[in-house]
Amino acid sequence: MTRVLYPGSFDPITKGHMDIIRQAREIFDELVVAIMQNPQKKASFFTDEERLSMIKELYKDDPHIKVVIGASSAVDEAINNDCKAIIRGLRSLKDFDYESLLQQINKEISNGRVNTVCFFAEKNYQFISSSVVKEVFRLNKDISDYVDPLIQKNMCLKADKNE
Ligand code: ADP
Repeated sequence: MTRVLYPGSFDPITKGHMDIIRQAREIFDELVVAIMQNPQKKASFFTDEERLSMIKELYKDDPHIKVVIGASSAVDEAINNDCKAIIRGLRSLKDFDYESLLQQINKEISNGRVNTVCFFAEKNYQFISSSVVKEVFRLNKDISDYVDPLIQKNMCLKADKNE
């Protein structure tokens, strides 16, 4: 059984992320989605727990997908969850530059134990990011092309609650 870790902020999970999960699941037996803190990102829309329960709900029919809240680094999460590699998604050259640096650091801090496998974004999802989704949502525009209906519903509920 080959298990891999897909770490990210997932604030919220988009159809782009879901496509990377789909691609990875075609190749690997088990996948752990790890919700990580990214200190470079601004205040989050959803709490970690909300992200956890939504992603769990999305994948409730796939027993080979597990969802966790990352306690430490992606490398430690990979080791603690018995994952062979980290999965990441590439949309552009900018992603490539960032991800190639990140995989190098992760390889170094794990003493070569944790490698990274990248999948390419599907062309319709190349421009989708969690930040774009939040921005379009704040403009009161339709986000159904970018996120699953469950996520859209939860964004509306959360926005109503915060009003
Ligand atoms: P992080 O804060 O770790 O970058 P994100 O949730 O923004 O977390 O992204 C997690 C991973 O998914 C990253 O490798 C990112 O490049 C990739 N990703 C994000 N959006 C897409 C998309 N639309 N298509 C493919 N990969 C994506």
